[in-house]
Amino acid sequence: MRIFLNHRFVPEQKAVVSVLDHGFLYGDGVFETLRAYDGCLFRIDEHLSRLKESAQGLEITVPHPFPRLRRLLYQSLSVNHLHNAMIRICISRGVGPIGLDPALCRKPTLVIVPKTFNGYPVSQYRRGLNLSVVSVRRTPRQSVDPRIKSMNFLNNILAKIQAKQNHAEEGLMLSLDGHLAEGSISNLFLVKDRRLYTPAAELGILEGITRQVVIELAGKNRIPLHETRLRPSDLYKADECFLTNTSMEIMPVTQADGKRIGHGKPGPITRFLHEAYRDRVRWECRT
Ligand code: PMP
Repeated sequence: MRIFLNHRFVPEQKAVVSVLDHGFLYGDGVFETLRAYDGCLFRIDEHLSRLKESAQGLEITVPHPFPRLRRLLYQSLSVNHLHNAMIRICISRGVGPIGLDPALCRKPTLVIVPKTFNGYPVSQYRRGLNLSVVSVRRTPRQSVDPRIKSMNFLNNILAKIQAKQNHAEEGLMLSLDGHLAEGSISNLFLVKDRRLYTPAAELGILEGITRQVVIELAGKNRIPLHETRLRPSDLYKADECFLTNTSMEIMPVTQADGKRIGHGKPGPITRFLHEAYRDRVRWECRT
């Protein structure tokens, strides 16, 4: 795989950054993960806008203007002959002496790492995921603005560790005051009486791009949607539950903390929205 590092594409073995990069030393940097469908990067503008906002939140200057970043992302597909892929673009504070002051680093480091990706297996969508509500709480927005998609993912990693200990595939974090917030890498939706519910942005979640697509699809298909405050009991009593993110799209949850969600199978609204999502991708990616 050829990886873009600062100015050029280099072979994976040569794609190395300094131990004095503040991304390594402090997790001081931002990133985005995009999905390519048949050579088309879905919602690329939304990902680039979020990358820019994340960088602004940390006072990191994005090293190139949007059109050049777009070109580089597409080039990282073409130089690697990839059509269906995930791409991670990272911008760290850059190399500088040890110390927290951002002024110690002169130039941000830009890295673009692609990998081939053909989606999760169909069997996974049929089975659905097993979710665990973990004790690790989502970092409150008064501590770190959740709109900053930073390289510092420890909160999420701790949630993932606990989910694995609980034999679950995803860990769901609560807000400090006990409301459902989000998964370690995903947003949450519940269905109850043919209405959709999702934790409100004010609870300190990352406003996922896939979440936004689901909100749009709900509107178009007249499915009532509430961005609100939910409790674990709402999850356990839900008719359906699903998670969203760029790589999973819409993934059914059929079990949470040992309890069956609905009938323990992916529900009709989840399946309908997933089809609608895939139609949306095909529509936006038509050439
Ligand atoms: N929440 C968190 C904490 C995430 O890491 C992700 C993955 N980026 C999401 C939600 C989903 O975001 P998106 O739909 O933009 O991939």
